[in-house]
Amino acid sequence: MRKVLRTTQYVTVALCKDNEPYLVSLNHGYDEAKNCIYFHCAPEGKKLVYQKANNRVWGQAVLDFGVTDECDYIYTSVHFSGKMNLISDLSEKQHAIEVLIRQLSLDPEKKLAQVKAEKLEKTTFGRIDIEHMTGKKGAPKKERLEEINNVFRRSTSAKGLGSSKEKDDY
Ligand SMILES: Cc1cc2nc3c(=O)[nH]c(=O)nc-3n(C[C@H](O)[C@H](O)[C@H](O)COP(=O)(O)OP(=O)(O)OC[C@H]3O[C@@H](n4cnc5c(N)ncnc54)[C@H](O)[C@@H]3O)c2cc1C
Repeated sequence: MRKVLRTTQYVTVALCKDNEPYLVSLNHGYDEAKNCIYFHCAPEGKKLVYQKANNRVWGQAVLDFGVTDECDYIYTSVHFSGKMNLISDLSEKQHAIEVLIRQLSLDPEKKLAQVKAEKLEKTTFGRIDIEHMTGKKGAPKKERLEEINNVFRRSTSAKGLGSSKEKDDY
């Protein structure tokens, strides 16, 4: 389940306010050590109105392996629940952008070198602290599996961001 959160590019997060549901997809970075998800967003909008009223969320990340010759549809997905909070501390924003860039960028070092503290201060970052996870695992074709494992190896090669015990493939 942790590997799915490390490998995917976005999560879809459901919120609820006054018995009205809402959802957003968010590009994310998963911090395995803290078991939390970082994202960034505009400073205002409907999701933040919902988050302020009720910070409990339910989310999903999907590895989509597509349809097989036998017409089965193969996926591996993770559901999680937790609490969504905004981050104000600059050092945590710096950590959040590093986790995000290392997960989402093909050239993380170049992107990280461009990060400026003044810009980070003005950017809204959020964190979802995961409290519970469930997963369902499909059996994809070998070629697609290799693609996914390459992404995972890249994202866990960053010092301090991956778990040394978790180098095994899907
Ligand atoms: C793959 C993917 C990755 C994304 N990554 C991020 C991210 O990292 N950070 C981020 O802030 N946003 C991201 N988005 C967009 C995000 O899902 C929201 O649409 C966006 O953040 C606006 O959310 P809001 O609640 O502030 O809406 P508002 O801007 O307040 O808009 C409110 C109204 O517009 C409608 N609306 C808003 N967004 C959409 C939409 N995408 N499609 C249809 N109707 C919409 C709402 O239903 C609502 O009625 C991503 C979307 C996708 C598909």
